Amino acid sequence: MKIKENVLISTLTTMRLGGPARYVIEVESPEEVPAAYDFARDHHLPTFILGGGANTIGHDEGFDGVIIINRMLGIRQAPLSTIIEVMGGEIWDDVVQYTTDRNLTGIEALSKIPGLASAAPVQNIGAYGQEVADALTEIYTYDTKTTSFYTLSRSDLQFSYRKSILNTTEKNRYFVISITLALKQGQMSRPFYNSIERYIEANSLTDFSPQGIREIVSTIRANKLPDPKDKASSGSFFKNIYLNETEAASAEAKGYPVHHGKDGHKINSGWLIEQAGLAGQLLHGMRVSSAAALVLINESATSYDDLAKARDEIRNTVHAKFGYWLEQEPVEIINIHKESSITSPGV
Ligand SMILES: Cc1cc2nc3c(=O)[nH]c(=O)nc-3n(C[C@H](O)[C@H](O)[C@H](O)COP(=O)(O)OP(=O)(O)OC[C@H]3O[C@@H](n4cnc5c(N)ncnc54)[C@H](O)[C@@H]3O)c2cc1C
Repeated sequence: MKIKENVLISTLTTMRLGGPARYVIEVESPEEVPAAYDFARDHHLPTFILGGGANTIGHDEGFDGVIIINRMLGIRQAPLSTIIEVMGGEIWDDVVQYTTDRNLTGIEALSKIPGLASAAPVQNIGAYGQEVADALTEIYTYDTKTTSFYTLSRSDLQFSYRKSILNTTEKNRYFVISITLALKQGQMSRPFYNSIERYIEANSLTDFSPQGIREIVSTIRANKLPDPKDKASSGSFFKNIYLNETEAASAEAKGYPVHHGKDGHKINSGWLIEQAGLAGQLLHGMRVSSAAALVLINESATSYDDLAKARDEIRNTVHAKFGYWLEQEPVEIINIHKESSITSPGV
């Protein structure tokens, strides 16, 4: 395993903020995972599991602990099988490409989501009508509570919108080593997600094979979302608002656009931000994207404080206008002593 000292979190995360982490350990085989946790225990330091840092934000003071990153590579597929086991250090989009190259359907709409395969189940990544939960059958993990290797099935993970037990009830407990996906021969069935349907119609497209959908999604995303290589962001900074029946009826009575899908009733938080007049604005060095108002781009923010001020202004403005509190999507690397003093509701 590789151990590095004093690594700036800004260099490990796509929002490019955050001071030094005391240690960063990159694990390259399952056996190295317990060794990395032993290292942290021997040094009396807390741990944080990081992937590609596309959904994680650092604080200016850094992290007085050990960041552990999965660098294990490889995709296993038995001959003629449509099931693949992916080591968690693989880049997620390479995994999507692997499946579409083999004409397998199941994760093609999740093309171009930045990050590593190991993080995909954590917040149940989703886009354009697919979620990783639709294809994932199990994950192989190191359980830091029992200090043993353990397989969790899809039902154990209790997936819902941007949630699993890995980011809620069992946060920080399991280190994901590999994930298993069950794909299918064939293609996604229609109707596709609205924006895919609109794009197909506008461009008179007829190729809906996994590779065809991958190309469509990649083009739609390239026109809308910042590429982490060029622009610092964490993608969608806020989650969409999910409503129960009564709340949905009351929102519709007020003229808000409520989407009714298989996953429930939702209002697109980007719409709320646009309607609040914030799209395109530069707040404390953070640009509210005019192409996708849910996305905050770090143009010139130099500290976590700048980001927090921009976030709070957006949340307060949307709450004052619509009565909804936006919930932050990216997680933060927080020092233990600070974590217990954070009280801000629903951030
Ligand atoms: C431009 C852009 C577009 C995006 N678009 C989407 C989108 O369409 N849909 C979507 O769902 N997300 C999207 N995201 C968010 C992000 O890509 C996903 O959340 C992705 O899964 C993050 O992967 P990562 O490896 O960078 O995770 P990180 O940010 O490093 O970590 C995310 C979480 O996973 C945990 N984690 C990481 N590795 C492990 C492991 N081995 N074991 C246990 N826990 C682990 C971390 O502790 C953290 O809680 C976007 C982000 C950007 C920057």
